[in-house]
Amino acid sequence: MLPLLGKNLPEIQDIVLQLGMPKFTAKQIAQWIYEKRVRSILDMTNLSLTNRQKLIDAGYEVGIEDPMDAAHSKDGTIRYLFDSHRQKGDKPANDADASVPGLPIETVYIPEHDNRATLCVSSQVGCKMACYFCQTGKQGFNGNLTTNQILNQIYAIPESDTLTNIVFMGMGEPLDNWTEVQKALEIITAPWGMAWSPKRVTLSTIGQMQHLPDFLNQSQCHLAISIHSPFADERAELMPVQRAYPMEEVLTLLHKYDWSHQRHLTFEYIVFRGLNDDARHAHALIKLLSGLDCKVNLIRFHAIPDVDLQTSDPTQMEKFQSILNEHGLTTTIRASRGEDIYAACGMLSSLKREGKNKLSRK
Ligand code: SF4
Repeated sequence: MLPLLGKNLPEIQDIVLQLGMPKFTAKQIAQWIYEKRVRSILDMTNLSLTNRQKLIDAGYEVGIEDPMDAAHSKDGTIRYLFDSHRQKGDKPANDADASVPGLPIETVYIPEHDNRATLCVSSQVGCKMACYFCQTGKQGFNGNLTTNQILNQIYAIPESDTLTNIVFMGMGEPLDNWTEVQKALEIITAPWGMAWSPKRVTLSTIGQMQHLPDFLNQSQCHLAISIHSPFADERAELMPVQRAYPMEEVLTLLHKYDWSHQRHLTFEYIVFRGLNDDARHAHALIKLLSGLDCKVNLIRFHAIPDVDLQTSDPTQMEKFQSILNEHGLTTTIRASRGEDIYAACGMLSSLKREGKNKLSRK
């Protein structure tokens, strides 16, 4: 079957015209899928029965698939597992990297105390970027998700109606699957789609420069950049992407944009004990980010097997935070969520958690 969830308005218009239906029915179909959230074409009751049957006969369906499993944390976080198999005929734009049928993808639902609820969505099965501290990076790359598979994570969970925020911080580097992620962002924010404000959506990247300019120019969603060290050689050991796209290049690009209004720029910094949590790092970070209207988010490291790093202790993290704040760099410490169900930052994976890894320390 061919899923309609994941099609943008021009694509739906092409489908209805090909089937000899009036063009205006495309907007009706988009409304049934993205606003009214129906799961069956037969429920699109302002389309004639003939037109609904034409869609079904042509092999279309809404295309929402329920999660395979869910793990519940004691803090309320839920880690959902979805099957990554694709529906026939639904391919990501870059299909050279076919996904492995049956490998699960993970999505994390994070309820807050103030009625907010954030969904952390995945954009790839595994990841190519091989960040040293990340379980998804250890898995390697198994394929890009389609727009249907990205949006299905939002539409298929029971809490879908309660979501207030979406973050592209799950498995994968979203800018490495830009065509599908861009279409998902378009559908989330378009008036004919979910009609969400882009201020409710954040894309997190390690600084993939091939498509960062596209994201900045084509979307108004918030941006989070993973930095983790102000020193190039140290960052390159933690994040091999530094060798291809040095942080200096990323910062030069970011300086060209206006961050003083509603669009937020955040730098994510995992704080590792004895590695990047001292005053020298704090001052270098302040210098590196000077002149940018941004904030810094400090994140506790969540241990993964065979990685010889530890999280910084809370007092050291607070000292680090104070230095940044005292120098005018707004800095928060992110609350850790879902660690007991392997749902916290850096812990997502389709595979069993195993393997030997060592980081050479200087
Ligand atoms: S931190 Fe992000 S970019 Fe790096 S390996 Fe993990 S998922 Fe990929």
